[in-house]
Amino acid sequence: MKKLLKLVVLFIFMFIFYQLFIAPEQLTVEQQIDHDIDITDLPSELHPVVAEKTADLIQRSGEIGISIIITDDYRSFEEQDQLYAQGRENNSPVVTHARGGESYHNYGLAIDFALRSDNGEVIWDLNYDGNGNGQSDWLEVVDIAKDLGFEWGGDWEHFKDYPHLQMDFGFTIQELQQGQRPD
Ligand SMILES: [Zn+2]
Repeated sequence: MKKLLKLVVLFIFMFIFYQLFIAPEQLTVEQQIDHDIDITDLPSELHPVVAEKTADLIQRSGEIGISIIITDDYRSFEEQDQLYAQGRENNSPVVTHARGGESYHNYGLAIDFALRSDNGEVIWDLNYDGNGNGQSDWLEVVDIAKDLGFEWGGDWEHFKDYPHLQMDFGFTIQELQQGQRPD
């Protein structure tokens, strides 16, 4: 009988040890993110208003002889983490300072664009003047984007992100992480 009691006590200790030290380690990445970031109502595509304005941007750029392509729009947390790792885990350049949940792309509120030259090449050249009007095509696109309500990453103080356009709808990244969402 005493032996059984010892066994029960030992089992209880093992159970508590497991709950305290082993179980928390086994949380998946998603559950760990969940501790800091509210992932309810996370979109899986561009916000409809952003999608509509993106279509307008492509059309209005086309009207002044500038062909653009959208190189990136919605990004999942996982895709964002992979992008963050680029340039940190190998020798390629750093492309983002944002981890999963830290970018407007993760909430369907940002796009990246590039120019397409006459011969179909995708270019990231701020001086390119393909429509020959003496102005930078890139900045002409940016002007249209701002007119449509986008904020431009090239205006940022620290990490200038020239292809990046976003609409924050008045929400900070912190507020989005806390679960607030635009309508
Ligand atoms: Zn971007």
